[in-house]
Amino acid sequence: MSLLTKEQYEKIASSVKFSTKALINGKLVDSISRKTYITANPATGQNITKIAACDVNDVNIAVEAARKSFEDGRWSKMAPSKRKEILLNFAEIIRKNHDELAVLEVLDSGRPIADIATMDVEETAASIAWHAEAADKLEDSITSTGPDNLSLVVREPVGVVGAILPWNFPLLMAAWKLGPILASGNSTIVKPAKLTSLTMLKLAELSLEAGIPEGVLNVVTGSGAIIGEAIGMHQDIDVLTFTGSTEVGRKLLEYSGQSNLKRVLMELGGKNPCVVMPDVADMDYAAEQVVAAVFWNMGENCTSNSRLIIHKDIKDKFLAKVIEKSKEWNVGNPLDPQFKLGSMIEKSHMETVLGYIKKGEAEGAKLVYGGHQTLTETGGYYIEPTIFDDVTPDMVIAREEIFGPVLAVLTCEDEADAISMANDTVYGLHASIFSDNTNQVYRLSRGIRAGTVSVNCFSEGDITTPFGGFKQSGFFSRDKSLWANRQYTELKTIWMAIR
Ligand code: NAD
Repeated sequence: MSLLTKEQYEKIASSVKFSTKALINGKLVDSISRKTYITANPATGQNITKIAACDVNDVNIAVEAARKSFEDGRWSKMAPSKRKEILLNFAEIIRKNHDELAVLEVLDSGRPIADIATMDVEETAASIAWHAEAADKLEDSITSTGPDNLSLVVREPVGVVGAILPWNFPLLMAAWKLGPILASGNSTIVKPAKLTSLTMLKLAELSLEAGIPEGVLNVVTGSGAIIGEAIGMHQDIDVLTFTGSTEVGRKLLEYSGQSNLKRVLMELGGKNPCVVMPDVADMDYAAEQVVAAVFWNMGENCTSNSRLIIHKDIKDKFLAKVIEKSKEWNVGNPLDPQFKLGSMIEKSHMETVLGYIKKGEAEGAKLVYGGHQTLTETGGYYIEPTIFDDVTPDMVIAREEIFGPVLAVLTCEDEADAISMANDTVYGLHASIFSDNTNQVYRLSRGIRAGTVSVNCFSEGDITTPFGGFKQSGFFSRDKSLWANRQYTELKTIWMAIR
């Protein structure tokens, strides 16, 4: 998808229609209380529009609608090929609304159009389409019994799925959940992050146009503490699927324990290592990838490689290249395609990240690049890409997920030291390794405890590969790939006596 100009995007932004109502039982509705909340543009600090502030009553009605639609089989018992057709239509409609969705996401999140218009919207459509294609291709099995029995092992949709989403990739995270949930025949109630609800609300409208039957996809908007908790505690939701912080993830497990023991699937935080060894053949390319790995999406990325572990023999030379490449990561108006970085999501998060930068300096790490708020005249919340050298594993900036454009550089002695440093974290989502020694790459890939290890690149794989975390980066969950479809199904054995 080619990019438009800043002026063209600004024109779309000036006339774009905001979807502000919840979707419950096939209707776009205000919250029962009629309360609303304001969503603002973090790139300017200006208010955008008011959105329905749902509460527990709206959640209850949405769950009731989802349950009814599941039990009467309008979707759950529809021929998989027909579900596929409707979801493929949904994907096509998303593509037709490409520019509008891209601009809405920029306005709501401060993320750069250069990423959203070339990646997120198309990947959202592609993710829905990929899982849709799987709907009528997955097969069940017959086990090897004797002649007196027939055993069928079949998968069935679980029922009603509550999906709670984060603000950092609003469209994409929605699609990673919706694709497999809907393709597997479930009904769902989705809660986008309060800070970034606009694109999910637009998707909700488009789902009606696509022909997804009423009640199957419901969207409620509002506070996590109110409707997130109401979804978590609901007695009639069968699965809770969540992407967000480890802190909120812990609460969801409690909700499940205190309510109906609903299945909880979680993609959580990360403090991801990137290991660079001396036999890396192309240092310039590696430095380019390392910089993208930490600064992409302003570091508001669960797989951000925020810990750079460099072998002592190449440390100074490689770090100099990393600093040089960082200069390409310019920060500015996210509607202008020339900028690689936009604003942070909100003022308080920007202040948290700036607090970590102060903490790094106070702990004795050496600030070698960036380190400040910038573009204050815009009213937005921008931070320069920032690099700390001389970080030690005990420092807070080496241990906590900062979720901002801050790189902590550590030095390792050898391969064993690199593995030990990489694993010195409560998280285990992603790791990158740069080395052209195949044996070493294999040993490192096996040694590092993370759900995804990317070698000689920064990557989360693609839609065909499972994505999820070890340790406190996840809980029994994988997004993408057919693993995602399976987790929204129940496994049933049908054991028949043949007489
Ligand atoms: P968050 O945990 O603050 O919020 C996520 C969602 O949970 C939001 O919709 C929020 O409203 C809701 N929520 C908040 N309090 C709740 C409560 N008490 N009960 C129920 N729901 C509640 O996370 P965030 O700030 O939106 O996103 C950033 C975090 O998400 C980071 O930690 C990041 O690493 C993680 N993340 C992980 C992945 C992954 O795939 N592993 C992907 C993206 C983001």
